[in-house]
Formats: sequence, structure tokens, C-alpha cells
Amino acid sequence: MPELNDEERALRDAVRSFLEKKVAPDVAAHERARTFPWELLPQLYEFGYVRGGVPEAEGGDELSMMMQAILMEEAGRCWGSLRTTVNVQGMVARTLSAAADAGQRARFLAPLLEGRRFGWFGLTEPDAGSDAGAVRTVARRKGDGYVVNGSKIYITNALGCDFGILFARVLEEDGTDRGVTAILVDAAESRFGVHDIPHMPLRSTTSCELTFDDTVIPAANVLGDLGGGLSLAMKAVNVGRLNMAMGAVGLSQACLEEAIRFCRQREQFGKPIAAFQLVQQMVVEIATLTETSRLLGHRAARALDAGEPGRYECSMAKLYCGESAGRAATLALQVHGGAGLMEESPVERYFRDAREATIPEGTSQIQILHLGKALLGHSALR
Ligand SMILES: Cc1cc2nc3c(=O)[nH]c(=O)nc-3n(C[C@H](O)[C@H](O)[C@H](O)COP(=O)(O)OP(=O)(O)OC[C@H]3O[C@@H](n4cnc5c(N)ncnc54)[C@H](O)[C@@H]3O)c2cc1C
Repeated sequence: MPELNDEERALRDAVRSFLEKKVAPDVAAHERARTFPWELLPQLYEFGYVRGGVPEAEGGDELSMMMQAILMEEAGRCWGSLRTTVNVQGMVARTLSAAADAGQRARFLAPLLEGRRFGWFGLTEPDAGSDAGAVRTVARRKGDGYVVNGSKIYITNALGCDFGILFARVLEEDGTDRGVTAILVDAAESRFGVHDIPHMPLRSTTSCELTFDDTVIPAANVLGDLGGGLSLAMKAVNVGRLNMAMGAVGLSQACLEEAIRFCRQREQFGKPIAAFQLVQQMVVEIATLTETSRLLGHRAARALDAGEPGRYECSMAKLYCGESAGRAATLALQVHGGAGLMEESPVERYFRDAREATIPEGTSQIQILHLGKALLGHSALR
């Protein structure tokens, strides 16, 4: 049975060709300058990036998860910073689509899908990482608004975005705790601090700390139900895990292609290093990891397309594809010898970016604990 149908193969070929022509030639320069071509995103949205996860009735493309998985693999094959940027924009779009009222759709979702506005997804805090439910940022009701205090960390691209979804604990004026709630924060409307935390991978993204110090946000910006924030966040994160998994497949694929290209042209001891058994072993391991990762990612996408919750499949794909990308990048670098450590080689970037694949949207350890609970019926999380 062919793994992809004709439509899926056509999408893969079209987006790969676009990325190779329009994006790949500038990746190294952007990474060096730590810049990102935001102006290119609307053209990428034409393929279904970001719009793919939103129903047509709301201005989206309503693509199957399999089609979205293909888009993520191709983004990951081209550039980790692109993959993470479109993944986060997609999470924001899906969350808005799931919970926004008509006014919020017009103000935030429509311009996001047109590539005119960009959003961040603010869940993680200094003391709430893997334990996402431990959110301490507080939004206290005051008149027709909320006064927010607290901080968020590692928030992708908050510096380049003009609004975001903040997850904060809502307290009524009398102190009643309404639970963690999603709230839209518009940078043009509310004052808060943003700064980039210098980081190793994904150099064309920012990884930001946000500080809220008596930040005033209108009550109309509450997204969905009071207290419904964590379940909204977890829905977005489940698909986000699949997207990260497929981005990691793309990264492994890029490692494979670069390792093959290099070992065919590099000669030592009078012949191409491709002829040495130990080099072949490394290349075959990368190929096997890439193929098995892709199969697990596709299985998770097909499960979601079949209407299944897909939590088990997405967790397993995130775990395996992320860890495999790390191994694939290590091997690809080894195949390159010293050249792999030089910034002029793409595998230097693959190696840095692969380290990210096992951390956001649930670390590998957290995925193992989800899978362990599903298999054994006991939670080892706490
Ligand atoms: C590049 C990047 C981009 C990100 N983008 C965003 C974003 O846009 N929005 C956002 O909200 N967040 C974002 N994050 C945050 C990310 O989701 C968290 O880093 C992640 O959830 C892990 O939390 P932590 O870093 O606090 O690690 P911790 O939770 O402190 O974990 C540290 C270590 O302890 C392990 N550990 C923790 N609990 C357990 C347990 N119960 N059992 C076993 N081991 C455990 C972990 O696996 C890990 O190895 C981003 C992170 C990175 C690195």
C-alpha cells in the first residue's frame, strides 16, 4: 500500500520545491543574523501552513492531519526555525478557532490567517514547565478588566508577534479562584515586558521572557470559558506534538541527505568514505531512524484523521521522532568529521536544532510517563 496518496504526494512535492527555491538559499544568512523572513509566511500559508488546522467556514483550509504532517516534515527538512514558527502560529490559530467569539475571530483569527498579525502561545512559567498546571500568573478582576501579574518564559517569537494567548489563573474581585484561563493579550492595547533569552537552537526565533506587572487587559479578551484554559492548551499541544514529531522527521531526512552527499564526495585513504563499512553503518542507522520516525508520525496523523483522540500515538511519535532526530544529527555530524562542526556546514545547525526536539510540548520523559500510564494504568507523573 503506498504510504501517501496522489494528493498528499503532490502537496509534498509542491511545498518542497517552493522551500528549496524561496527559503533554503537564505537560511544560513538568516541564522547568522538571527532574523526571520516574516514577509514570506503569507506565501507559505497558501500551501496550508497555519490555515490547514482551521475550518473553511472560518477562513482556514481544513486540511487533513496527514496533509498538515507532510507540511511540517517539509518545514523541518528545510529549517527548524521555520518549522517552530509555523507550528506556534498554527497552535494559536487552532486555539482561536476552538474558542474565540465573533469579535475575537475578526480581530485576531482573520488577520492571523491572512499573515497580517502573528501570535504567541504563553503557557510555560519559571515554576510551571512540565507541570503546566502549576501556573502562577494571576489575572485579578477589576471593573470591566483584569489586572495581570506574573511572568512567562521560553515563549517562542513573542518579540516578533503583536498579540498572544496568555494562560493565567483568574481571580474574581472577592478572591474566588476561577482556574487557569486563556486570555488574549494585544501588544497595542496592554503594556507588558518582553525580552529574548539567548539560546542555542533555532537561532532565527526568539525565546522570550514576558513580564506582567499590573498589566490591564479588557474582560472581553477572555478566550473561551473561565477555567477552561488548560484543556484548551492541552488540545493545542496534542497536535503540536505531532507537528514537532513531523518536523523532527524532516530534520532526520535532511541529516540523511547531507550525510549521503558528503560521504560520496569526501575521499580518504584513496576512496570515498562512503565505501567504508563503518560510515555505511552510520548512514544506514540515520535512514532507518528516519523511516521508522515517519511511519510513527503518519500513524498518529491517520489516527487523528480517523477521529480518534490520538493522544497515545502523538506522544509516541513526539518521543521517538524527537529522540531519533537527536541521534540522526549526531551521526550526520560524525560522518562529516571536523567539517560537521563548522558553521558553514548545515549539519552544525541540524545538531543544534535537534536538541530542541525532545523538550517543548512535553519533554521525552513526560511523553514516556503519558505512555506508561496509558499502557499500565498507573500515573508516575507525581
Ligand atoms: C525552544 C523552546 C521553545 C518553547 N516555546 C514555548 C512556547 O512558545 N510557549 C510555551 O508556553 N512554552 C514554550 N517552551 C517551554 C517548554 O514547553 C518547556 O521547556 C517544557 O515543557 C519543559 O519545561 P521546563 O523547561 O521547565 O523543564 P522542567 O519541567 O523543569 O524539566 C526538567 C527536567 O526534568 C524532567 N522532569 C520534569 N518532571 C518530571 C517527572 N514528573 N518525571 C520525570 N522527569 C521529569 C524533564 O523531563 C526534564 O528532563 C519552549 C521551550 C523551548 C526550549
